Amino acid sequence: MIPAAFDYELASSADHALDLLGQHGDEAKLLAGGHSLLPLMRIRLAAPGLLVDIGRLSELAYVRDAGDQLAVGALTRHETLHFDDLLNQHCPILAHTVGEIGDPQVRHRGTIGGSVAHGDPAADVPAVLVALGATMVVRGQQGQREIAAGDFFQGLFTTALEDTELLTEIRVPKTSGMGWSYQKFNPRAQDWAVVGAAALVRRTNGGPTGPSHTGTDHRTVLGAGTAVVTLTNMGERPIRATAVEQALASGADLATASQEAAQGTNPPSDPLGSAEYRRGLAPVLVRRALEEALSR
Ligand code: FAD
Repeated sequence: MIPAAFDYELASSADHALDLLGQHGDEAKLLAGGHSLLPLMRIRLAAPGLLVDIGRLSELAYVRDAGDQLAVGALTRHETLHFDDLLNQHCPILAHTVGEIGDPQVRHRGTIGGSVAHGDPAADVPAVLVALGATMVVRGQQGQREIAAGDFFQGLFTTALEDTELLTEIRVPKTSGMGWSYQKFNPRAQDWAVVGAAALVRRTNGGPTGPSHTGTDHRTVLGAGTAVVTLTNMGERPIRATAVEQALASGADLATASQEAAQGTNPPSDPLGSAEYRRGLAPVLVRRALEEALSR
């Protein structure tokens, strides 16, 4: 289908984009990589009167060292992040996960900011950002504010962003000393996740999760507060698998704790799988994620 008619403005700076959003309010939509917005416009689920193209704002495309965090510009493309040295060194779970998105064409156009702002529950990056405890930096007419990833994703295609705000940066903690994994289950390599599971595990000296640990089996036990587990596409937003985390903290082994993965979730049914299928898949992926995180 052909999108409804719209006006187009190429933003020359972040300030220019904000001015245009301020003037046009909810009539305007930001265009970054266009890989989520344009398909919606083509089927007329979105019909903005004005597209504000921020796709060429190089001032918002970067990865910078910020002490115990990395600052990632919202306009940084998935492919750039996948091969970024700083990100691979200090936050490998994010560098890995963006490499799991779609196909090379999608990764060369799509941006991390677009992926986050779109609020698609099937997107891979949001669950990883929630697991990391990332911070979204947002600019609007009133200035800048910071939003924790756990508060940012609010529902189906709904985030804490206002219509007149621009997501400028995502801050992620350095994860040195942590094991990590993102398990994406999809029928074909370029497909969206049927379900995804992210795990971050803090290694403790000398314990079963210590640096000397060289392998895992289903009887491995973790201590309290050592693991964070989140899920993709098991509800209307990325979900923290708190029942799994609590079971691990109470001394349950990986296999037993992973069985709790579908607790409190509300997965969709769609052509890729029924809700029941997803509830069966989640424990398997969580267990794989925990095992891989412990082996890294
Ligand atoms: P756009 O489409 O330009 O924008 C998306 C939305 O975010 C719009 O509402 C826009 O106004 C808003 N927005 C964009 N940037 C900002 C900003 N800085 N501040 C505020 N609002 C902003 N994703 C996955 O996670 N996994 C996949 O497997 C996957 N497969 C895909 C396969 C195909 C064939 C396609 C077309 C897309 C796929 N995607 C997948 C989505 C892809 O990651 C998109 O690139 C991403 O979701 C949106 O990024 P974008 O830069 O294209 O955003």
